[in-house]
Amino acid sequence: METQSRYGRVTDEVLALLAGIAGEKNVVTGEGLENYSHDEMPMPKPFLPEVVVKPDNSTQVSEILKLANQRLIPVTPRGGGTGLSGGAIPTHGGIVLSLERMNRIIEIDRANFVATVEAGVLLSDIFQAVAEHGLHYPLYPGEASAAIGGNVATNAGGMRAVKYGVTRHFVLGLEAVLPTGEIIQTGGKFVKNSTAYDLTQLLIGSEGTLAVVTRVLLRLIPPPGKMELLFIPFNSLHDAISSVPAILQRGILPVGIEFMEKDIIHMAEEYAGKEVPLHDYEAFLMIFLEGDNEEEIHRQAGEIGPICLSNGAVDVYSPATERAKRNLLDVREKFYYALKRAGMLDFADVVVPRSRIAEFVEMSHRTGEEYGIPVIAVGHAGDGNVHLAILGEATDEMQKKVKELLGRICREGVAMGGTISGEHGLGFTKTDYLPMVAGGGKMELMQRIKQAFDPNGIMNPGKIFS
Ligand SMILES: Cc1cc2nc3c(=O)[nH]c(=O)nc-3n(C[C@H](O)[C@H](O)[C@H](O)COP(=O)(O)OP(=O)(O)OC[C@H]3O[C@@H](n4cnc5c(N)ncnc54)[C@H](O)[C@@H]3O)c2cc1C
Repeated sequence: METQSRYGRVTDEVLALLAGIAGEKNVVTGEGLENYSHDEMPMPKPFLPEVVVKPDNSTQVSEILKLANQRLIPVTPRGGGTGLSGGAIPTHGGIVLSLERMNRIIEIDRANFVATVEAGVLLSDIFQAVAEHGLHYPLYPGEASAAIGGNVATNAGGMRAVKYGVTRHFVLGLEAVLPTGEIIQTGGKFVKNSTAYDLTQLLIGSEGTLAVVTRVLLRLIPPPGKMELLFIPFNSLHDAISSVPAILQRGILPVGIEFMEKDIIHMAEEYAGKEVPLHDYEAFLMIFLEGDNEEEIHRQAGEIGPICLSNGAVDVYSPATERAKRNLLDVREKFYYALKRAGMLDFADVVVPRSRIAEFVEMSHRTGEEYGIPVIAVGHAGDGNVHLAILGEATDEMQKKVKELLGRICREGVAMGGTISGEHGLGFTKTDYLPMVAGGGKMELMQRIKQAFDPNGIMNPGKIFS
């Protein structure tokens, strides 16, 4: 028996109205929909939207949302489509609202160290534009083809969080459009703000379920003088990860500390067609250093090396040339795609207090063995964010087992004082795990917040809440 959906359909009349708002060529139907039916999350099946609309400005976003709200049509905002939990996938059909044409850098204000950009600007374009003005945006959430609106909506983190934190620490204000069509401005070009509820921070990480972000004010900093990289092999993952608290306790603050095991290095080497030195040891730390000058970098490296060696490191490799450094980074950046090619079924990003990473990773491996399913762990050791890739054949039975396995791993992570997503968000693939961390009335409070912003439930339905 077919169940009646509570949502309205995108009829020919709605298509004509959308074309009137955004222009006919910016309203996509038919074959063009396929590109918007998935993100980077491995998926058993795509979800086609009924239409994709590409507005040019906030007024058009407002008109589209007003129309969708009147007709109860689901709206899925979309940036670069690089998300790893299915947040930009239109699971309920309706409209995909792509910010790709809203890609203007409005202003780079050197006096206030603030960039004002439209939500569709790609991260790679922000890096370049601020560097041209002698400034720096220090976060690097892993994929430069992501849009800044997507970074904001997922509160993206990445490899530089140990020193700089995550996206929410660099957003000073937003322009956002509510489902009613109201355009609001939050925050401003100031660092301090104790004025009532902080709507900027509420919208950050809301995964398109409350409003569409259309503009972002980003805090900038002066560029670092020098950046360096250490690649440190160990005979065991336990030794590698156990070195991390020892480094941080010494008061050294690297930009980032990544851990990885031999098998993922080998997969990524094959994928990238490149080799990294010392690649046959069991586990590795990749440590990113920054300093005002060469001496500062040497001082940090000079302290980190002995700490790691006394924790079981076999060697401390620092690439001597830019080419060797690029080679290492290229292999690191291919991890995700190498895992995808190897048949990744799911990808989790549990975060635990960093003192418990080794214990968490060992538990994940043991639990995977119980199920007979390989679990590959890689991630941001310096901030406790562990990425777990589950490999296997995409059968229904296997998918069920993977869900159960990940559920157990998430529960253990939460019991260790962690949470279920450190940076990718819940999208629609991790919604089942939310009750693990949202007890004590928090779930109901979050649902009331959702209701206050979006009483008709049109904003990205099926995401965050199952
Ligand atoms: C190889 C690879 C490496 C990665 N490494 C990292 C990493 O290290 N750290 C990390 O944090 N992430 C990482 N990611 C994940 C991804 O890049 C981030 O989640 C990124 O923030 C998504 O941005 P996007 O523009 O692609 O968003 P999308 O995938 O398009 O959307 C993500 C979510 O944001 C919502 N959204 C997008 N734009 C808006 C808007 N303007 N208004 C409201 N909601 C919006 C969508 O509805 C969806 O819920 C990686 C991805 C890949 C493929």
